[in-house]
Parts: sequence; structure tokens; C-alpha cells
Amino acid sequence: MPNNSRGHRFHEDVNEYFAEGARHTSLPVGILRQLEACNAVYRIAFPVVGDDGEVQVIEAYRAEHSQHRLPTKGGIRYSLSVSEGEVMALAALMTWKCAVVNVPFGGAKGGVRIDPKAHSPAFLERVTRRLTAELVKKQFIGPDVDVPAPDVGTGPREMGWIADTYKHHGPDRLNALGCVTGKSISNHGVAGRVEATGLGAILALERVLDEPEEVRSLGWNGAGLDGRQVIVQGLGNVGIHAARAARERGALVTGLSVSDGALFAPGGLDPDAVLAHREEAGTLDGFPGARFFAEPDALLEQACDVLIPAALEHAITGSNAARIQARVIVEAANGPVDRQANGILRDAGCLIVPDIYANAGGVIVSYFEWIKNLSHVSFERMTRRYQQASNEKLVRILEKLAGRAPDAADVALLCEAPNEIDFVRTALENTLAISCDNVRETRNRHSLPDLRTAAYTMAIQRVGEAYLEAGIYP
Ligand code: NAD
Repeated sequence: MPNNSRGHRFHEDVNEYFAEGARHTSLPVGILRQLEACNAVYRIAFPVVGDDGEVQVIEAYRAEHSQHRLPTKGGIRYSLSVSEGEVMALAALMTWKCAVVNVPFGGAKGGVRIDPKAHSPAFLERVTRRLTAELVKKQFIGPDVDVPAPDVGTGPREMGWIADTYKHHGPDRLNALGCVTGKSISNHGVAGRVEATGLGAILALERVLDEPEEVRSLGWNGAGLDGRQVIVQGLGNVGIHAARAARERGALVTGLSVSDGALFAPGGLDPDAVLAHREEAGTLDGFPGARFFAEPDALLEQACDVLIPAALEHAITGSNAARIQARVIVEAANGPVDRQANGILRDAGCLIVPDIYANAGGVIVSYFEWIKNLSHVSFERMTRRYQQASNEKLVRILEKLAGRAPDAADVALLCEAPNEIDFVRTALENTLAISCDNVRETRNRHSLPDLRTAAYTMAIQRVGEAYLEAGIYP
């Protein structure tokens, strides 16, 4: 299917999910029409000199779905799948996602239609810097306007090029580094951003399973992930961290896939050993003790408790949904389950943890990075020593009360002071826990059929109220 029609179908799905959620809000119809619309799309074509010296014309997009809160926020994707419809769908998901987890951003998304694996780092740098310059020209980037982040095919390296280029367009801008998140820690990023989306997907799942009724409806004994069989599709940034986090919690990662193959091993796989094997062999094939599939999508249909699609949209559609055996699907990717599949899986009793909640970890921690960039101070700097000193006081008081010195190991534990990563991880977990409770409460109050409809209903209500409170005009 050509990109445009695939992207268009994805956008239609998001709009249908919106319509389902909107039905349960108390918002006037005019506001709902505005909330469905994409506020702005910037389509760009710019020339970049290729490694062979020939000029190539690069196609790129930036969509700002809702500017009810500024800046707007959303990743930049480098992929051949990029189209206007895809970017508009992803920008809308960002609006609803930010609202679900109460992060004060509007929704945006960008994409460049290139295959990053087919180009040299030097070419990708030229593309990224030129893209940034184009976005600056039309004010589609800036710490108080629109703040990109990593997505498929991009990471801290690209974010660093964006920050550097933006800075050079306005060297006197004090907050320039807040123009993009997902930067490396040494380049004004925040600890825990790289892992945030994958880890967040597992934290989100744990919180959903924390409800006894939810676990009972799955026919499971016990809430945790211990001993659960988990399959992860896609071993990029989101997939690898989700797989690691699931394994750390005692799950058996029984299946892993990349774009050109998959492994299945009911006894469990070590995701890092799988990655190392692929690095060395250039393929997943030959990994000891596992069955190899040359067609990666076959993995989605293998038996497991939890399936985590962490690659691209529409991995699960009307054509394979009936063969999915997982009892739970965690949408670590954006839009991995199309609307037809969503209905089939819902009817089959499969619990879907929806993307606008499940993969919000990335934007939550991006929010922390943006705050850090605007405040020009790291999270632990003002409190770390103070907290350590307070804990030392507590140890002395305990010692006096007990009449003996506590164990050295206990003292060390008590006097541990938090680092930036501790603040980030606990704030991420707390944000996801509150959001899950809010979504569940919305589902129960309106007797909604699933978590997705509940998440949309809650998000639309919140954004609609922001419009109304602002007197409609932001
Ligand atoms: P990435 O580029 O790091 O990884 C994507 C991976 O998917 C690659 O390893 C690729 O080989 C694999 N893949 C592609 N097609 C596949 C297929 N058919 N079967 C198996 N694997 C396949 O991208 P990412 O940042 O990990 O993003 C993955 C998904 O998560 C996307 O939907 C993205 O929008 C979403 N997401 C990412 C973030 C983030 O912080 N990076 C945040 C929220 C949502």
C-alpha cells in the first residue's frame, strides 16, 4: 500500500477512536470539531547534497495537532513510511497522550522520508541540520513553540544536531537547549530519557495489573509479571528497554523480533545476548536454543501472556487479529493495533493497554528534560546533600533511642541520597500510576468498554476544558 493511503488509514483510525471517546464527554460539538482537526501541517522539500555529490530532494513534515498548550511536543521520525497522514495521526496521538498523563504540552509530530540505515552519518547530519533550519524559518521549533524528540530512526545524536543548529540561529537565546528533548546526558539531556518509553510501558502494565478485578478477568493468579511469557516485537529503543524491564521483573521474554527476522524460545531469551548475536552475525538466525522465523510478523501469533508491539503502526490488523494468542497487548508503539483488530481482540477478551497511556513514558521524561533545560539546574543539585544530612540526623536519633550503633549496611542504606535518575524514575512511575487510576476511574464512571475509550474520553474532556477556560482562543 502506498505511504499516503497507509498514513491516511492510520489517521482515520485515530479519528474514529477520537469519535468514540468524544461521545462520552460533555463538550459542545463545535469544540469537539476543533479538537479533531489538526491545527497546522508544514510540508517541506529541501535539497541536501548526497554522499555521491548529487543533490537529493528530501521530503519532510511537521504537524502541530493542538496548540491549546505550548509548546507542542512530539518526536521526529526518519523512515520511508513517513507521509502527511502518518504525521498527522501521530501528532493527534501526542495531544491525547500528553492529556492522559497530565503533561502541559500540545501534540505535534515530525517525519523525514528517508531510510536512515541507507545513509552515512554525515548525510544524516546534513539532513538534520537543514531540517532544523527549515523549522526555524517558519517557527515550527523552539522551547516555547514546538519541541521535537526522538522517534523511529532518530536518537540522542540527531537531537544533539537539532539543538546545536537551533542554538546557532539565535546564540543569545538563554533557553535554546530546551528546543528539543532526548539529548544525551552530556549534552544537557536528563538521566533516564533513553529507557523511559520501554520502561514506562512495563510500569504502565504493572499498574494496570495492580487491580485484582483486572487480573481475575484474565484468568490469572497473581498480579505481577513474574513467570509471565512476554513477546516483544521490535528491538529498537523502545523494544529493548521494554524487554529488559520485563525480564528484570521476572518475566520470560519468549519472543523477540527485528525487521528481518524473529526468535521464539519458550524457555526465555536474554535480549542483550540476542542483540549481541545480531550485531555479530548480522541476523537473528543461529541464536542458540531458539526457533528462527525469517518472516518477523509470524512471532505476533505465537502463544504468550503479554504481547508488546514496539515497532510501527498497524502491526496487528483485521487480517491477523484472530490468530493473536496473547491475553494482554501493551501498545509500546504508536497505533500498532488497527481499528478492525481492536474490535476483534476486544470481543475475544484481550486486554489492550492503549498507546496514549502505555508509551507515554517518553514524553513524561521529556517533560522533565525540558524543565531541567529551562531551569538550568539538574534535579538533585539543590537537594542531594541536604537530604543526605537529614538522613544522617535521623540515624543519630535512632542510635540514641536504640542505645547502640545500627549496622553499617543499614546506615549506608538510610544515608543514600537520590540522584537525578532516582527522581526521574520515581516521578515517571508516579505519573503513570496516577494516570492509570484516572483512566480506570473514567472507565468505571461511564461504564466504558475498554481502557482505550476511557483514555480518549478523559483526554478529550481535559483538552476541551482547556479550550473553554481559555475563552476558546489560546
Ligand atoms: P527505533 O527506530 O529505535 O526501533 C524500531 C525497531 O522496529 C527497529 O529495530 C526495527 O528493526 C523494528 N521493526 C520495524 N519493522 C518491524 C517488524 N515488522 N517486525 C519487527 N521489528 C520491526 O524506534 P523506537 O524509538 O523504538 O520506536 C518504536 C515505536 O515506539 C514507534 O511506534 C514510535 O512511534 C513509538 N514511540 C517511541 C518513543 C521514543 O521515545 N522513542 C516514544 C513513544 C512512542
